[in-house]
Amino acid sequence: MKCDVRVVIPGFPAKYTYGPCGLSSIYLVETGKRKMLFDTGGFGQRRELFPRLKAMGHPAESFEIVVLSHAHWDHMMNVPYFSNADIYLHAEDMKFANAKVQDVDRAYPLPYMRDLLSTRHLRCWEGDSTLVEGVQLIHTPGHTPGSISAVVETEWGRTVLCGDTIKNRAEYFSEEYDVRGDEQTFHAGVKRIRALADAIAPGHDRPFDTKSGKYLADGDREPAIIANFEKNIQKESVCKPMP
Ligand SMILES: [Zn+2]
Repeated sequence: MKCDVRVVIPGFPAKYTYGPCGLSSIYLVETGKRKMLFDTGGFGQRRELFPRLKAMGHPAESFEIVVLSHAHWDHMMNVPYFSNADIYLHAEDMKFANAKVQDVDRAYPLPYMRDLLSTRHLRCWEGDSTLVEGVQLIHTPGHTPGSISAVVETEWGRTVLCGDTIKNRAEYFSEEYDVRGDEQTFHAGVKRIRALADAIAPGHDRPFDTKSGKYLADGDREPAIIANFEKNIQKESVCKPMP
């Protein structure tokens, strides 16, 4: 079955010199009969996310399925706004998140973790799973214990939405990843994604073709960061990803 993957918010492959800035990608997957949102982003995308979903014909309240690639703040903070949706999180990340609620960790701000874990719509699953016809969820642990990827057939070929297991195009082609957790487990997940994917929709970048490296979609607007380094507010520095 052919599905559509559309970029709602394009991720930005950037980090601060002193830490992550969390500009993650948000995708809409349509199977013909069903639709789902893959990740919900963090604070930075909130103002743009809801008008954009509406403009695409899919207001937040119309979603019945939201899939989280993993439970880090930059992918799950807007979950409470999808009040009619079941929220799919892998059971291993549910366990991990529960443990982290007792902990102070930069990737798990406490109130948001509590919000996520207390939602009555949280649906946990294990192993691999066919969520709806045409969408397979596979367990690709490493970045977090419950990191997952979604595999769908699209006009780009077999497309893998992989969250932060592969964050951006540079990681894919250099094969230098931001390895977290057990190294062997992490690389097994990456290997599984690489074996499947004609196209990758990463966690912090735009979808790209795995052979040519060509970017396949930007969403409605090219991603960029606007900075004001000058005394004149009109003088803006626009930082864009390479074409
Ligand atoms: Zn992330």
